[in-house]
Amino acid sequence: MLINTPRYGGGGIYNQWMCSSSDHATFKQVLVHEFGHSYAGLADEYNYGDNHVEWYPSDTEPWEPNITTLKDFDRKWKSLIKPGTPVPTPPTIADYNTARRQMTTAQLNEKTQRVGVFEGAGYMARGAYRPAELCRMNVNEVDDFCPVCTRAIIDITDFYTGTVK
Ligand SMILES: [Zn+2]
Repeated sequence: MLINTPRYGGGGIYNQWMCSSSDHATFKQVLVHEFGHSYAGLADEYNYGDNHVEWYPSDTEPWEPNITTLKDFDRKWKSLIKPGTPVPTPPTIADYNTARRQMTTAQLNEKTQRVGVFEGAGYMARGAYRPAELCRMNVNEVDDFCPVCTRAIIDITDFYTGTVK
């Protein structure tokens, strides 16, 4: 659904719908992010800092393919992590807003492709983990989904087209 408003926003529900505002400057970026929710069931990889609600209880592995509580991480993206990568993985970006000012778009895009287990995801600063420092499911300012989200989009496409291996 396109909502004819200049206000920022959007939403996506897996297997149901997605919406975005038609006249905001980030219309295209929001649309791609919401597509991730509605088409591939991807979770938000951002967090709201320390003022979080426990959206994802520590005794339960989230069903979404791109976040984990480490309760049952083996069935998530463990196979995509280079050997020797620490879990949790220390980020190279301490403050994203500072990084946006100091790094080029290409440098920010590089952050989408290094797979690890970065703490802070699913609205929670602690106790939930994402696969990349940056991803389209985290910020609008990068071009790509991380490899884990990309794999999830390919998997659901294979499912819908009958090419599941
Ligand atoms: Zn991702």
